[in-house]
Amino acid sequence: MRLVIRLVLFALLAAVLALAWTFAPQDLDAPPAQGIAAPPVPATPGVELKAILAGKMLSSAGFAYRGGNLTEERVFNMGAIVVSHPKGTLVFDTGFGKNVAEHFKTTPWLMQTTARYEQEPTVAEQLTAAGITPSAILLTHAHWDHVSGLEDLPNIPVLVPQAERDFVDNGGAATELARKIGTTAYKVYDFPNGPYLGFENSFDYFGDGSVVLVPAPGHTPGSIFAFINTSDGKHYVLIGDTAWQSEGIDHPAEKPWLARNLVDNDAEQVRGLLVRLHQLKEAIPGLTVVPAHDRRIWETLPQLKEPSPSPQQ
Ligand SMILES: [Zn+2]
Repeated sequence: MRLVIRLVLFALLAAVLALAWTFAPQDLDAPPAQGIAAPPVPATPGVELKAILAGKMLSSAGFAYRGGNLTEERVFNMGAIVVSHPKGTLVFDTGFGKNVAEHFKTTPWLMQTTARYEQEPTVAEQLTAAGITPSAILLTHAHWDHVSGLEDLPNIPVLVPQAERDFVDNGGAATELARKIGTTAYKVYDFPNGPYLGFENSFDYFGDGSVVLVPAPGHTPGSIFAFINTSDGKHYVLIGDTAWQSEGIDHPAEKPWLARNLVDNDAEQVRGLLVRLHQLKEAIPGLTVVPAHDRRIWETLPQLKEPSPSPQQ
């Protein structure tokens, strides 16, 4: 009997150590990339990018990337990126909507018990306050925290690639909310424009190189990256949840095993994309890589709602 107890204790200890190891630092190998140059600045004037902060989730650095500190709290941003162009205004993702309390109940049990969230004025409210009516909404992917605000933005086309449209239908619990809301608005687009920054296919949305979408399957089957090149010469890439925090790109380091298993569709594809983004960031000085949930990065972006100026003395 004593031997059985010892064996059970040993197995438990081994399991705990194995789980702890999955959070330990382990950076991915990222050799320097060859032949990457900054994309051209569009000739079109008036292309601007603005961020809308629309919700927070509180988690830890250790849950976001391998090697992060599990006791270091990180604010996971929820929000939308607005790209204004003379031909239309695009909104990428939709942050927390007004019914986020209901939406949160569609998330995995582990998330509901471990994570806390805070509401902020919704994307729809902030767009209305700024007098903006988007011409289209584009999703980096269709997980609940990116579609929650769709409900508040009716009658606007929601653009996704076919692979993500299929994932909405067949993704089970991961896309339960995306199936419940917005399904009539989904429109599918393709990537007809050939290679872009090492990605095989692309979709040059306005035809002037200002907004270029590329397939980036991994986190979900139809995830995209959106390269935004603004008229003031700045370069951004919206990467959805391929990395949750910038360290995922900078090391590069993937999410720990537990998080990967909860949220990533194909860990191998995600690893490849993290290395690619790391290489792009090194090769293109001034490229701002925007993980959907890194609040620190979002706060450095131009804001739709600038802080009110301090009163004149
Ligand atoms: Zn997300």
